[in-house]
Amino acid sequence: MDLGLTGKVAVVTGGSVGIGLAVARGLAAEGVHLALCARDAARLEGVAEAIRAEFGVRVLPVPADVGVAADIDRMVAAVQAEFGGADILFNNAGTGSEETVLDAPDEKWQQYWDLHVMAAVRLSRALAPLMMERGGGVILNNASICASQPLGYEPIYNVTKAALVMFSKCLANELIPHGIRVNALNPGLVRTPDWEKTARILTEGKAQTWEAYLQNIADENAPIGRFARPEEIADFAVFLCSPRASYSVGSTYYVDGGWLRVTT
Ligand code: NDP
Repeated sequence: MDLGLTGKVAVVTGGSVGIGLAVARGLAAEGVHLALCARDAARLEGVAEAIRAEFGVRVLPVPADVGVAADIDRMVAAVQAEFGGADILFNNAGTGSEETVLDAPDEKWQQYWDLHVMAAVRLSRALAPLMMERGGGVILNNASICASQPLGYEPIYNVTKAALVMFSKCLANELIPHGIRVNALNPGLVRTPDWEKTARILTEGKAQTWEAYLQNIADENAPIGRFARPEEIADFAVFLCSPRASYSVGSTYYVDGGWLRVTT
């Protein structure tokens, strides 16, 4: 299937590893030029160079913390200077949390609100007008299955991801008259280096291997019995970013190996 993405420009936050990197690579394979952001500048530069070399697209690495408004302004200015705007925005940067509601201070709630919600609000507000000038665009917000099926140890993560899904719906209604399609993605278990690192730490010096630890989590949660590879999320995301998904507007798509226990 020709996805019709050649020559488009995509902004991918958290594009240096995991799901964001897989989506960046998937878009690059379709001939999409990229602006990637993450905080670790050295890792980001390395990824940008590797994608340029493999796919022959332009890649602009912008070291930035998307939880900081000034960094977003700098990022948007860099995108405008390099590409004149963007056609696709994949709001992906994020991370898990661990707390109880009774113990977590305001500062922690604010930090995750800025990272998971305000980053998407600010980037959408800045890039949507530039998309309109180009005749339309796509915004895809990477939330989580935890937006509707919470994990007990991370209430702040669950709440802020739920807010991101509702933001997607509101934004979709506001922007579709301007030819911009907005959707949300709710992945389940995705085997990223971070999960592997956590598994190694938690099994160090124990009889259980880190691989067995991850398998156990998959067996307990996902009917499919395994984690997703980041590329399995990326294939779906790239399709949603393409004009072949032209009637997909304001929806939330679960890619979770059957983990969601209810119908939606
Ligand atoms: P990773 O930890 O593998 O990668 C996160 C990426 O985001 C990195 O590029 C990281 O780079 C960047 N990042 C993190 N914080 C910031 C920040 N403040 N500003 C800019 N960039 C940042 O994450 P995953 O690929 O696992 O997850 C990606 C998204 O998918 C997250 O939003 C996560 O909540 C969601 N998700 C993940 C699931 C999973 O099982 N892996 C399941 C469901 C949803 P750097 O550290 O250099 O900033």
